[in-house]
Amino acid sequence: MQLIVVLQFLIPLAAAFNARRSALTDCLNAASVPILLTSSPSWQGATKPYNLRLTVNPAVVTIPRTKAEVEEALKCAYSTNTRVSAKSGGHSYSASGLSGNMVMDMVEFQEVSYDASTTIATVGSGVRLGNMATKLFQLGERGIPHGTCSGVGIGGHATLGGFGLDSRLWGLTLDTITSIDAVLANGTAVTASSSQNRDLFWALRGAGPGFAVVTSFKMKTFPAPPVNVNWAYTYVYSTAQKAAKAYSIAQAFGQTDAPKELGYGILFFPGNQFIVRGVYYGPKANMDRILAPLLEQLTSLNDGKAPKAVVNTQGWIASLTELDGTTLQTLVRGYDKHDTFYAKSITTKESAPLSLTALNSMFAYLYTNPAPPNTWWMIISNLYGGPGSVINSFPPSTDPASTSSYADRDSGYVLQFYGSTASTRPPFNNQIMTYVKSMVGSLGDEVKNLPAYAPYNDPELTRAEAQQKYWGAGVPRLKAIKSQVDPKGILYNPQGF
Ligand SMILES: Cc1cc2nc3c(=O)[nH]c(=O)nc-3n(C[C@H](O)[C@H](O)[C@H](O)COP(=O)(O)OP(=O)(O)OC[C@H]3O[C@@H](n4cnc5c(N)ncnc54)[C@H](O)[C@@H]3O)c2cc1C
Repeated sequence: MQLIVVLQFLIPLAAAFNARRSALTDCLNAASVPILLTSSPSWQGATKPYNLRLTVNPAVVTIPRTKAEVEEALKCAYSTNTRVSAKSGGHSYSASGLSGNMVMDMVEFQEVSYDASTTIATVGSGVRLGNMATKLFQLGERGIPHGTCSGVGIGGHATLGGFGLDSRLWGLTLDTITSIDAVLANGTAVTASSSQNRDLFWALRGAGPGFAVVTSFKMKTFPAPPVNVNWAYTYVYSTAQKAAKAYSIAQAFGQTDAPKELGYGILFFPGNQFIVRGVYYGPKANMDRILAPLLEQLTSLNDGKAPKAVVNTQGWIASLTELDGTTLQTLVRGYDKHDTFYAKSITTKESAPLSLTALNSMFAYLYTNPAPPNTWWMIISNLYGGPGSVINSFPPSTDPASTSSYADRDSGYVLQFYGSTASTRPPFNNQIMTYVKSMVGSLGDEVKNLPAYAPYNDPELTRAEAQQKYWGAGVPRLKAIKSQVDPKGILYNPQGF
């Protein structure tokens, strides 16, 4: 009986959607915007999320070739009330780039150019990070701060955050943006900067998805450092208490003694591997001097046993390649790397590092609770704050002078708790998700209300929880801007605006 009642509602809804879909495709065809439908041979590749744990269900993929086609496609979506998500590199943890009924794949937007007179780069919104870095170096030996995975797209990276080990030196990717070319939900082309469409510029730099479809960014560039030292020191502590103490020492060192030229993180991997690692942007002798007191303490805690060291002094491109772990340049079309995972993040405040009580509790959990079979997991704590950090040099998003909705300008570390299938392929065992949640839970109440990092978005959070964790006190202003630029809610981000 209940089933019949449910079907009575669903069948008319499906018919209404089918009618809308054909109105949408008719409109897109009339505007000559290239589209893929479920029957297209390349449909599966075009709609395969990076995170294979998730399933997505778009009805149409558009592949605009020009800004005019982005405008036309959005007008079609607007007139048919179709939800749209833009897709750049497709690396969203929640597959949010594929969450719309119409996906707008920005793969044709591949410009990377550099104006030597202003040192500003123009980057198309479909460019993957590795290709951008390679081209900028070729054009003028320049660099932009960004994450380590070469396949990530600039579209989702630069609109939400964009942390690399060079971010304390140069800022997040979004901090480098000076101007954005975009198209609003109703198909109107706009430019946003600190002097033009200021509210939109603020929203796009931190909470971007859902406010406009970006076609290109103008970004500040920096001279690529000639000497880069990629460094990692691995300890295996015999007890959870020692690991907790080591973390506490390493955490404090980062916040007080790591100059901004020292990209710095604390990692914990299966096999009780406790790793401090990063990149020093300068001569190795300086790095050795800076790290010596830290390594002395960590080694003494390990009963004098020296760590396993991997230290490579190299040029900019070699350093980025080592961080990626494979190759820096990636396929523009046909990119097919994936993982099957669940992750959570927390952002600690610089004024309130994790207490030894919380760390003891977390390491006790990790040392005594094995992960489910066939699981890979890791905890990565990257230093965002510390002496001279450019990330924390900008005003908070609620400051009237702020030009970015990125919320955490007083952060210490961003911790990421990540669990995936060991093979990187499905099937995903839900116990992995439970394990990841328990790692965070083992830190206790002091992390419950901490913010989180939007690019590591957690689809298990409700929209309201996610908005609060990612954008905090900026939420009311973001809601107000959304109601101005997209009152019909055409641009879709399940956890955004
Ligand atoms: C393997 C891996 C490594 C990572 N490493 C890092 C790291 O080192 N540092 C870090 O900060 N983050 C890192 N991330 C997180 C990454 O920055 C985010 O997942 C990012 O949002 C991905 O962007 P994308 O364009 O590839 O994804 P997509 O799924 O294409 O897009 C993500 C979101 O952005 C929106 N979007 C995409 N293009 C546009 C556009 N043109 N206009 C408007 N909205 C758009 C989408 O609609 C979606 O909501 C990593 C992610 C992965 C999977």
